[in-house]
Parts: sequence; C-alpha cells; structure tokens
Amino acid sequence: MYEAGLYSEVIDRLSPLGDGKIHMAWLAVYGSHSVNGVAALHTDILKRETLKEWYDIYPEKFSNKTNGVTPRRWLRTCDPELAGLITELLGNDKWVTDLDKLKKLEKYKDDEKVMKRFIEIKKHNKQKFADYIEKTQGIKLDPDSCFDIQIKRLHEYKRQLLNALYALNLYDRLKEDKKLDMPPVTVLFAAKAAPGYFRAKGIIKFINEIANLVNNDPDMEGRLKVVFVENYNVSVGEKMFPAADVSEQISTAGLEASGTGNMKFMMNGAVTLGTLDGANVEIAEAVGDDNIYIFGCRAEDMAATKAYYNPKWQYENIPGLKKCLDRLVLIYGSNWQPGDPYYVLGDFDDYRKTRDRMYADYKDELKWAKMCWINICNSGKFSSDRTIKEYAEEIWKIKPTKI
Ligand SMILES: *Cc1c(COP(=O)(O)O)cnc(C)c1O
Repeated sequence: MYEAGLYSEVIDRLSPLGDGKIHMAWLAVYGSHSVNGVAALHTDILKRETLKEWYDIYPEKFSNKTNGVTPRRWLRTCDPELAGLITELLGNDKWVTDLDKLKKLEKYKDDEKVMKRFIEIKKHNKQKFADYIEKTQGIKLDPDSCFDIQIKRLHEYKRQLLNALYALNLYDRLKEDKKLDMPPVTVLFAAKAAPGYFRAKGIIKFINEIANLVNNDPDMEGRLKVVFVENYNVSVGEKMFPAADVSEQISTAGLEASGTGNMKFMMNGAVTLGTLDGANVEIAEAVGDDNIYIFGCRAEDMAATKAYYNPKWQYENIPGLKKCLDRLVLIYGSNWQPGDPYYVLGDFDDYRKTRDRMYADYKDELKWAKMCWINICNSGKFSSDRTIKEYAEEIWKIKPTKI
C-alpha cells in the first residue's frame, strides 16, 4: 500500500500517543482482529473518514454488522395484543425467533378487517400509556390524537431542539389560524441527560416551558399537547414504543451510528419521520419511500453544506423561526452564535414541510394503518437474532446454536 519512504510519515501520523492525546480507537483497531460499524452508513463513514488510514492498511479487518433489537422484549412482551394478532394470523409463534416470518403478513395491508383490528390495538396501547401518564404526572392525554414520540438520550446531535422548535412554531400557527388543518397532536419527549451536560438540561427546561405554555392555553384543547415524560428508562420505553404513531429519528445526518429505538418503534407499528442517518437508511430501504418520511441534509452533503452555512439567514428568513428563537435567549446565545454545529436551523424548513405532510396523511386512518403495518412486516432484518448470527458466523467463526 505505502511506498517505503512514506512509512515513517504514516507511522508518525498514526502514532496512538504522538500528539499528547491517547487515541483509544486507533489502539483498538491495531489490537483487534475485527472492526465493525453498526449500520451500513456508519461502516461507510468509518472506512471513508473516521478510520480511513487504518482501513487503507487493514481493509480485511473491517465489516458491517447492522444493529438489531430482541423481538422477545420489544414486541412479544411489550406489545402482547399486537403479538397475539401476529401469532393468530401466522398460525403459530415461530416469528418470535424468526422475525423474517412477519413478511408473510404484508398481504393483510389491504384487508380492512385486519387493519381495523390493528387500529384498535394501537388505540388500546395509547390509552394504557395515557393512564400511566395520568397516574405518574397528572396529565390527561387524548388517545385519539397523533402520538408523536421522541425518546432517547438527550444530546444536541439527536436534535430534540428541532422537534421542540416545531412544536412551539405549531403552537404559534394554531394561535394565528384557528382553522389550520391539522389533526390533534400529542408531542411526547422522554430523555435522560448526563449530569454535567449543561446544554442538555437547558433543552429539557425549554421543552418543559413549551409544555407549560401549550398545555395551559385553553385554545390548544383538542389540538396540541406537549409532554416531557419523566425518568426515561427501559420500563417506560416498553410502554411508549407500542403507543407511538410517529417515531422521531431526526439526528444530524452522519452522527447517529445506528439507533435502536428506531427499530423498536418500527416493530410496534410506528411510522418513522427521520433523516437519512444510521439505520434509518436501512429502514427506508426495507419499507420503501412511501412508508417513511425522510427529510433534511444528507450525510454526504453535510460538509459542503456547512462550509457556507450561516444560521442567521434561516433565523431571519424562515417564517416563524425568529419568533420561536427570540423566546429562548438562554439557549440562543450559547447555541446558535456563531455555529449551530448540528444544523438545527438548516434542516428546520424541510422538517416542518415533511412533518406537516405526514400529519395530513395521518388523517386517513386506513392509509396510516397500512403504512404502520408495512413497517411491522418489514422489520425482520432488525431482529438482534440476525445481528448476532452475523457476528457469530462472520467474525467469531462459530455456528450459533439453534434457539
Ligand atoms: C432503545 C433505548 C435507547 C436507545 O435509543 P436510540 O433512539 O436508539 O438512541 C436508549 N434508552 C432506552 C431506555 C432504550 O430503551
């Protein structure tokens, strides 16, 4: 690969202790027999950017193993009614250890009886979650509204702020136009922040302030509600994934290695609204463009786009943004001056257009149910059984025992 004379230069540059820092990932690549990314896009970025020089030296070490989630916990146990319907339609529960079997159910997307049963199950799951929120936080939710959910660790790259800005702007639009054509929407957040992550806590504060504003305004009754669900963990997740209509997966393209929450939502029949990031790319491939809502700058365009990006332009020119941002002096100062490194304002306009279009589609109950169903039926790839089998056969070189 390298000319003899170039070796010393490369050795100096890739030295794991050379520049006063300890390059842990470099040490790991050198010491490991195998290196993998956790989604196709992530593996591509590792090879082309993050670990490019290591890939040039050891191309045979690198491979992709797209993440998965276990259908035992994330479908059968957390969504027993949907699991029951699946078992009934397939005639047995072999899908629990062979999730590709769900593909056989795709034909029911045009069966109104089955779709109506799915709709009932979803509504029941929403009611169960509503009962939980009423009990734990004293807030009443409307199970006939669209449950639009973003649950994941709080981080700037995951862009809870983009979702919050949409919610605040939707509040402004609903106030300005009483007849704005929107189904009733419940925007649900849940997230944990690292204790010392000051801006993350600022974003949680911002979401709670929006919730106070929206939920105490009688004009929003039956139109919009915003809730930050406390103390997010797996047990809370088990109640929320089955209750979701919309799965928010809106990270800055190129920054989410895979995501697994996106897979849990898909398995439970929620439609993804997301960027082409992490495993969202493979979810889009699996369900097709008509069964997912994709928006925003692509990973491969991000560097060029950010080179001339000035968020001040969006602030001044995208209708509604200035009004939202002027309300949050606290985060504003630190977050958008000068950089907006996570391209929040850059993606706002396309996000809003795509989310508005999605809500218009949500009003057609059967059309929406069909999309959800197609998501469920094509979630087989995202079983961790598939992932583990790939690790076993391609990296560890062992035959997995039959489960
Ligand atoms: C699945 C899960 C995550 C990961 O969610 P992402 O959306 O992939 O970041 C984090 N926390 C809990 C409790 C989960 O269940």
